[in-house]
Amino acid sequence: MLFKEVIGQESIKENLIQTVVNERISHAQMFQGKLGSGSFSLALAYAQFVFCSNKEENDSCGACPSCLKINTLTHPDLHFSFPVQILGNLKKSDDFISEFREMMISNPYSTEQDWYGKNENENKKGIIGVDESKELFRKLSLKSYEGGYKVAIIWLAENMNIASANKLLKLIEEPPEKTLLFLVVEDLEKILATIISRTQIIRLKSLSEVQISNQLANHHGVDEAKAIEISTYVNGDFAMALHEVSSQDNSQVFFDLFVSWMRLCFKKDVVGAVAFSANIQKLGKEKQKAFLLFVLNLFQKSLLGNFSGMENVKITPSHKEFIEKFMPYVHERNMEALHTDMSQAYYHIDRNANAKILFLDLSFILFKLIKK
Ligand SMILES: [Zn+2]
Repeated sequence: MLFKEVIGQESIKENLIQTVVNERISHAQMFQGKLGSGSFSLALAYAQFVFCSNKEENDSCGACPSCLKINTLTHPDLHFSFPVQILGNLKKSDDFISEFREMMISNPYSTEQDWYGKNENENKKGIIGVDESKELFRKLSLKSYEGGYKVAIIWLAENMNIASANKLLKLIEEPPEKTLLFLVVEDLEKILATIISRTQIIRLKSLSEVQISNQLANHHGVDEAKAIEISTYVNGDFAMALHEVSSQDNSQVFFDLFVSWMRLCFKKDVVGAVAFSANIQKLGKEKQKAFLLFVLNLFQKSLLGNFSGMENVKITPSHKEFIEKFMPYVHERNMEALHTDMSQAYYHIDRNANAKILFLDLSFILFKLIKK
């Protein structure tokens, strides 16, 4: 993976490139953030740049023998550890490496759910067990095949159990010569404090809406209006954006929910609001958050349509008709309150508030706010 193929994260890329150019690469680094912000992609591009034998100023060459081996994730000095759903004697990453390679080559923004789904068992959590840490320890203690660095990328290192994490800690404290450990982590709270304190942490930011919509439109063949729409509610998470493209349905599901919600708010339909809130509860937290962003975005589009005419609003044609009728109800007198209430709802959902109560409350607020 070339740096230029990683979406955004420009200042992090520059820093990483400088560490190689100045030969000051920290031996233990943690790429922390959502997988959909590109943590694995960055770690992989970094490893490729370390190995590339014909580096350009700001990227790997993409064509030298090392780069070609990285493309297929088969470089002999690049090792991967990742959570596995232990199956009898199959407990180490290498037992599942061909499936892992296949997934990451087709989509380096793959998520933990994608991984378990690939093995047709989405609900069983994988672990990086002590057998895997021992194996990693063994591999990294050997001489490198090509005389340079040995790199291990530990994908979702928070899935290490205690024994395994302690073994990793040993590796970090007494690294074999020319060994680099890149931990890819979503949830820092699940990592041992002793590991955190000995690791350089690289925090990834969520991607911008423009970065996501451009990537979808330019590299994934998504229609521009659709790409823009998806980018508005995936919260800077490119993995989630890709899921939206492949399912395609969420935005229609969300739109239908939005229409029925607004209709019952017009009518001040309390019974309807109770049923709606119960329905929303079933979506689960991540979709509830995405739905709130989706609704907020439609409020903003309505306001824009209201002020400057529908021709300036980028919206899916099938949604246009409803928004044209709805937009007089969003204006400068209620927009700020709508924004505040939706944002607060998002905040509370993110902190595990009861969705049923929260959406019911929010409905009562909308009863009052949505007026001409
Ligand atoms: Zn190269």
